[in-house]
Order: sequence, then structure tokens, then C-alpha cells
Amino acid sequence: MHVVRTPASARAIARTLLRPVGFVPTMGALHRGHRTLVERAQRENASVAVSIFVNPLQFGPSEDYERYPREFEKDAALLDELGVALLYSPSVERMYAPGFSTRVNVGVLAERFEGAARPGHFDGVATVVAKLLHAIEPTTMYLGQKDAQQTAVLRRMIADLDVPVDVVVCPTTREADGLALSSRNAYLSAEERAAAPSLHRALALAAEALLHGQDPDVTMTRARSVLLPPLAWDYLSVVDVERFEPVRGHTRPALVIGAARAGAVRLIDNVSVAGIDERDPLVTPERDRDRLIRA
Ligand code: AMP
Repeated sequence: MHVVRTPASARAIARTLLRPVGFVPTMGALHRGHRTLVERAQRENASVAVSIFVNPLQFGPSEDYERYPREFEKDAALLDELGVALLYSPSVERMYAPGFSTRVNVGVLAERFEGAARPGHFDGVATVVAKLLHAIEPTTMYLGQKDAQQTAVLRRMIADLDVPVDVVVCPTTREADGLALSSRNAYLSAEERAAAPSLHRALALAAEALLHGQDPDVTMTRARSVLLPPLAWDYLSVVDVERFEPVRGHTRPALVIGAARAGAVRLIDNVSVAGIDERDPLVTPERDRDRLIRA
């Protein structure tokens, strides 16, 4: 596995990789969710590149940038073992040299829900991913359903800036009790951890009821009551997957999204409501690698 630290060396090595190239951007502290993305990228591509970069631009001033878990050696060993061809892990100084001042702003989509709770967060995400895509020039980028609004923001940025890359969204990997895997779950106290699966239960209950045409207001009231203390709702809503605009009535497909506070930790999750054609509105169906590589 090549380990590179600068945009120029990332580009030089990436250009030698067998195509198609699948790319998985991460902030490290890799868990089973990240691993699922890497494994899928491997099934669908000739080479896989991964980035590890804890991006200061996407953290608010009172957020956990300093204490975000960093486990580079362990992560690199795992990626090497998985057969990843290129690991790009730039330093903050290389990514944001003195004088750096450009921001990629995708507009109103980035101001709703997670964007409202974390001002500037999605500008930071869109900016760093634009830079990473320039460096790696992948065929396809692999993202997790768990960060659904992030997938919408990045699809918007890619379409608007004519970036020649496909996006594949992979289903959320969960603990046995339903809690979505996240590097931040390690921050939860025992009491918060015990209550945390109730976020997914609430979203799943709402999605199931909406799928069966039950009254949206009754459904949302019931779903709200499922969240267990000490968790508290930040938001719970039903939105369309592209614009993240709240939908009313019996609209399908849709996405039930929720965020809950557990002390200093915010948990986010979502469950999709399939369209009448049964298709999931967010997750990309698996593709045939042999067909892709021949194409
Ligand atoms: P992060 O390292 O948190 O920035 O995440 C890197 C990528 O992994 C993002 O596309 C996330 O959506 C994805 N990801 C994080 N957690 C999960 C999970 N539990 N299941 C699937 N994908 C995930």
C-alpha cells in the first residue's frame, strides 16, 4: 500500500493505479462501517484509495476536533490488510497552507438540519472533498447512508462543479441493537449507550408506518415518544433525499431523519421509505465489478 501525504504525490500515485478506482474518504478511527465501504469499493473497482484526514474546516469552534479519535497506525495496518492500494493522509498544513481562504458552499441544502446545528460544517465537508477528489481523481466515491445529508451535499457539489466522479451510497452498518456505528459512540456513557438504540427504533417505526400509509402526524408523534432519556431530540423530520426539504402527507420515496443529543454527543441516523417501485431512494444497488471493469 502506498502511503502519501501531499496532494501532488497522491495524484502522481493515483494516476498509476489500475482503473476503475474506488475512493473512500474518512476521518480515520476506522470501524466496521468504514470497512464495509472499502470492501464494497473493492468488489466494484480494480483499485481502492482511502483518505484519512480529520478536517478542521468541518468542526465548529466548540466541537470535538482536538479530541476526535486518531488511530493512524492501526487504521493503516487494517487498510493494508484489506488490500487498499493507496492511503492518502495529508497534514493540516498541506491541506490548508497559509493564506487558504476558498470555501465550497452548496447553498440552502447545507443550511438545513445538520447544517443548522453545525454552521459551516457542510462548507468544510464540500471544500475538503473537492480537494480530495482533485488529488485522487477516482472513478467512484463511496459514502455511507448514515451521513445522508452529507451525501446530498456532495452530490450537489459534484454536479454543480462538473466533477467527473460517480457516487455510491452504502447502507448504514449497525450494532446488533440497531445503533449506527460511529467513531463518536466511544464518547457515550453507559447510560447514554443503553438509550442510544432508541434513536434508530424511533426512525424505523416512523418509516414503517409511513410505508404503510399511516397518518404522518400520528406517526411522528408516536415516533417522538420512542426516544429514551437521557437522549433528547434535536430534530426528527421526513424529507426528500435530494434537497432535504420536509415533505408532507403520504409522499414516497422519502427519508426519515433524526438527531438526538446525549450529553455532549450528537447522534444522527436515518431510515429510508422506499418508493412505490420498492427502490431505496438513497442506497445505491450493488454493481457487477466484471461488467464495470470491462466497460
Ligand atoms: P467519517 O470517518 O465519519 O467521516 O466517515 C467516513 C465515511 O464512512 C462517510 O461516508 C460515512 O458516511 C461512512 N460511515 C460512517 N459510519 C458509517 C456506518 N455506520 N455505516 C456506513 N457508513 C458509515
